Amino acid sequence: MSENENKPQSNFIKEIINEDLKNGKYEKVHTRFPPEPNGYLHIGHAKSICLNFGLAKEYGGKCNLRFDDTNPSKEDVEYVNSIMEDIKWLGFDWEDRLFYASDYFDALYEYAVKLIKKGKAYVDSCTSEEISEYRGMPTKPGIESPYRNRSVEENLDLFERMKNGEFKDGEHVLRAKIDMTSPNMNLRDPIMYRIRHESHHRTGDKWRIYPMYDWAHGQSDSIEGITHSVCTLEFENHRPLYDWFLDELEIHHPRQIEFARLNLTYTIMSKRKLLELVEGKYVDGWDDPRMPTLSGFRRRGFTPESIRNFADRIGVVKRDSIADVSLLEHSLREDLNKRALRRMAVLRPLKVTITNYPEGKEETLEAVNNPEDESAGKRGIPFSRELYIEDRDFQENPHRKFFRLAPGREVRLRYAYIIKCEEVIKDESGNVIELLCTYDPETKSGTGTAQRKVKGTIHWVTRKDSIDAEIRLYDRLFTAENPDGDKEKSFKEFLNPDSLEILSDCKLEPSLANVKPGDKFQFERNGYFCVDTKETGNEKIVFNRTVTLRDTWAKIAKNRN
Ligand code: ATP
Ligand code: MG
Repeated sequence: MSENENKPQSNFIKEIINEDLKNGKYEKVHTRFPPEPNGYLHIGHAKSICLNFGLAKEYGGKCNLRFDDTNPSKEDVEYVNSIMEDIKWLGFDWEDRLFYASDYFDALYEYAVKLIKKGKAYVDSCTSEEISEYRGMPTKPGIESPYRNRSVEENLDLFERMKNGEFKDGEHVLRAKIDMTSPNMNLRDPIMYRIRHESHHRTGDKWRIYPMYDWAHGQSDSIEGITHSVCTLEFENHRPLYDWFLDELEIHHPRQIEFARLNLTYTIMSKRKLLELVEGKYVDGWDDPRMPTLSGFRRRGFTPESIRNFADRIGVVKRDSIADVSLLEHSLREDLNKRALRRMAVLRPLKVTITNYPEGKEETLEAVNNPEDESAGKRGIPFSRELYIEDRDFQENPHRKFFRLAPGREVRLRYAYIIKCEEVIKDESGNVIELLCTYDPETKSGTGTAQRKVKGTIHWVTRKDSIDAEIRLYDRLFTAENPDGDKEKSFKEFLNPDSLEILSDCKLEPSLANVKPGDKFQFERNGYFCVDTKETGNEKIVFNRTVTLRDTWAKIAKNRN
C-alpha cells in the first residue's frame, strides 16, 4: 500500500480551511462539485471530484452534486445520467444532495430584482457589438453605456418584460452596475441575464431569460450553504465579482478557492474537443477506451482506486503544470497487480504439436492465480498434444539475444514442460504455420525432477478447449506530449493512427470460458486486460488491453523522434 492511501497530505486548500475553522469563519465544511452537463466527465473532473468529496469526508462535512445547467442549448439528459454514473463509479456519494442551478432560477430572479432596487443592476439595450466595444481593453478603461442610468422603475419594468418574453434575443441584457474603469474586466458591468427563447431540459419554456455563469454560480453556492467553493485557476479573476454579488445581496458568503487544473501528457481535456472527436467519429463514442473520459477509462479496465490514488499523488497546487500520464498508468498497474488473476492467453497464435506426447492424453497442471495474493489460490490448466504459443516466441533465425524457441532449441512452457523445436512447417508462401516439438517428461514444473534450466519461459494455451476471443490493443490517442500546444496545428493532427489494433484470432485458456463484462485479468507476459462491456455477448468475447505490464512507451517515443 502506498503512503498516500493512509495519510492524507496537507495542501494550501486545507490550510485555508483549517484557518477558517479555527477563527470561526465557518463551523463546518460544505463543498460541491458543479459539472455542466454538456459532455462526459474526464480525468480532470475526477481530480475535482476527489478533491471536493475528499475534503468533505476528511472534515466530516458534506459535498453536493450540482448540475450547472444555466445554458439551455448545449445540455442534455444523457450527460446528466452519465455524470451521475461516473461519480458513483469513482466511489463518491452526494446522498440526498442532488441539485441543479435551474432549481434556483426563481431565487436568482428575486436576487436580481433586489440588486435593481438597490441601484446595482440595470437593463442595457446596446447591441452585443456595442457592449463589447464599450468594455474597452485591459489597458484601456471602458465607457459607460447610455442606458446605465435608467431609473429603478424603468429597469424593473423592462426586466420583468424580458422575463415574460416580450423581447427578442439580444434586445436587452441585465448588467451589474460596478465599474467600467476597473482594471479587472470582470467588474466592468458584467452581464447577469440574457434573453434566450429556448427550452430548457428541466424548466421547459418557463424562462425566456437565462442567468450567466458568474451570476448563477456564487448565489447557488450561497443558497446551498457551501462554505468552500473550490474551482480552477481561470476563475481567480472572477473572485472579486463572486464576492461583490454576495456582499451586495448580503447573503451567506462562501469562500472561493482556486487551484490549478489537471493537465496530462498525451491527453486533451476540453469537453468541446472531446465532443469533436466523438462527432467526427475519430473514436467510438465518449466511452471509447482511448478517451480520457471516466467512462472510457472504466471500459478500458481502469479501477476507481487507481484513479483516486493518482488524484491523491499529484496533489493540489496553485500553478499550472502538466502531469505525466505514465504516473496514472503506474497507479493502475500497482492496483491491478494486487488484484488481477493471472491467466494465459495467446494473442497471435502459432500451432505447436508435441510429437512424443500421446494422442488423446490430457493432464491437468497446476497454476498460481496471483503470486501477490495467496488467497487467490490455484487453478488447473489442461495440457495436451496440440498447443498454441505466441508466434513472436519463435524465430527461425534467432538473433543473438533471443532466448525463446528456435529450430533445435529448448524453452520452458510455463507451469508445464521443457519442449524442443524439431521441425518447422510452412505454407506455400513460406509462412511458418506449425512447429513440431518434443517434450521432456522429466521436466514437469513443480516436481523434483524439474531441475534442468533453460533460458526462456513462454506462455501457451492448449488447442483443445481453448476459447476464441478478440483482443483490442490500445496505444496513446495522441503522438504529441501536448497535442493542444501547437499554435499552427489542430490537436487532431496529432492523433495516433496506430492507437487501436484489433486481434481477432486470440486463444484463451479454458478457465476464461465464463467471463463477464468488466472482469479483469493479467494475461501473463501480455499485460492487463478487461472484458469489454459493449462488444461482448452472443458467444463473442472481446477483451481490451488496459495497460501493458511495463511502461514501454518512453523508449518507443524516443526511437520515434
Ligand atoms: P472543460 O474545460 O474540460 O470543458 P469545464 O471546466 O468546462 O471543463 P465543468 O463541467 O464546468 O467543465 O467542470 C466541473 C468542475 O470540474 C469545475 O469545478 C471545474 O473547475 C472542474 N474541472 C474541469 N476540468 C478540470 C481539470 N482539468 N482539472 C481539475 N478540475 C477540473
Ligand atoms: Mg465550464
